[in-house]
Amino acid sequence: MLNNLKSTIENNFKFRLNKNQLAETERLIFEIIKREKINLKKLLIFLKKNSNIDKCSSGNKFSTLKQTLLELRFPLTQAAERIDAQRVFLNKLKLPLRDNWQVNKDFKPLKIFVETKAKESYIINNLRKKFPKIETEEVTSCAEYIKKNKFTVSELKKPFIFVVKENCDFIKICPCTKGHLYCGYWIFNLGFGCPFDCSYCFLQQYSNFPGITLPANLDNFFERCDEFLAQFKKPLRIGTGEFCDSLALDDITEYSKKIIPYFAKKNVLFELKTKSSSIDNLLKITPPSNIVISWSLNPQSIIKTEEKATASLKLRLEAAKKVQATGFRVGFHFDPIIHIKDWPKLYKEVIDKLYAYCKPPFSWISLGTLRCHRELKGISQVRFPKSDIFYGELLLGKDKKLRYPNFLKVEIYQKMLEFIRRHDKKTPIYLCMEDNEVWSRVKGLVPFSEIENSLAKL
Ligand code: SF4
Repeated sequence: MLNNLKSTIENNFKFRLNKNQLAETERLIFEIIKREKINLKKLLIFLKKNSNIDKCSSGNKFSTLKQTLLELRFPLTQAAERIDAQRVFLNKLKLPLRDNWQVNKDFKPLKIFVETKAKESYIINNLRKKFPKIETEEVTSCAEYIKKNKFTVSELKKPFIFVVKENCDFIKICPCTKGHLYCGYWIFNLGFGCPFDCSYCFLQQYSNFPGITLPANLDNFFERCDEFLAQFKKPLRIGTGEFCDSLALDDITEYSKKIIPYFAKKNVLFELKTKSSSIDNLLKITPPSNIVISWSLNPQSIIKTEEKATASLKLRLEAAKKVQATGFRVGFHFDPIIHIKDWPKLYKEVIDKLYAYCKPPFSWISLGTLRCHRELKGISQVRFPKSDIFYGELLLGKDKKLRYPNFLKVEIYQKMLEFIRRHDKKTPIYLCMEDNEVWSRVKGLVPFSEIENSLAKL
């Protein structure tokens, strides 16, 4: 928060700020200071020297100040195109949470809630075996319990486990995002919540309760999945990693021991996507040819600050190498790619390391840049006050999500392709949640018209 900002601006530039103008000025100045790592004094000296605010009539002073601040806040966009003020999202500054629950690398539940109908399940037996001393409470319905017991945002990552008998949403099409190209992916809903805590994770905005929900009735899932798959002749691409990390808790849940044998017999390409190194269960089975184990990758400096409690880059790559050596197909996701200082050097190093550990071609590599609903920016900023990823060049896109502008995304994707293609000419590379314009401007991707056939090859 910026102390005395109103009087500082008014005294320096000789005009009055109304409430909305103050809120916008405060947000812009806060983000510029964070981004450029300067202090307010230095910024004021710059504004006095390099803007025409002093020379404007009092009616124009605020618009000139705002325009100057926008140019400082979005320097790359300013150099490439006109900044559209409608696409700038200036949320009100809020104080960081003081009591935000911090996740641990070693996941240990605080308490386990189990629905009466799920109390004799495979999953609850595994949990009891792993955590014999952790209190378990039987409830009729976890949803009812959550409704009655309100939780705060600070508690979002409290490690409660809810074991439920799930009745709906077994499988659904990936919602992608409005106005963007959909890659033909289906989601097998294997729970909700994650023991990791990524500053950009959309679950922060979706959840109104802490902890992780785990379904107990996998057999019902499989029955419903049989009915669902009977409608399709061509192979589908299905994965579990939308509302959870596919393997983060696999050492505890042992879901992979059930899921892999089930999907091994189906006409699908099934993906388990993770930021963990929990592969022990995978190493004990004979790898079916239609199961893909994939890792999301980022530079270690980003993993350290933005992907709390996840496995390090080294551990992820070591796990991928072992899994590939046993005969599993592997895939990789550079998503979200975060545009920070030195990003080409950092991402090139990750790509070089990937190819030092694993042998191409892979089932796929996807690329996606940082994006989020605007509400998430506010939540993330109070939960992760040290993170500065939302002070990048993020503007509201067609889908009202914050995204980098197209010129910047094309530059990022093209460079990533160049780095990858130096090692590997064969792996299909596609974009996640991008529009037609970006897809057609990036050269070397799977042609969008062939994406489903190209990625869902059994
Ligand atoms: S690993 Fe995925 S689901 Fe888990 S916190 Fe990070 S982004 Fe969210």
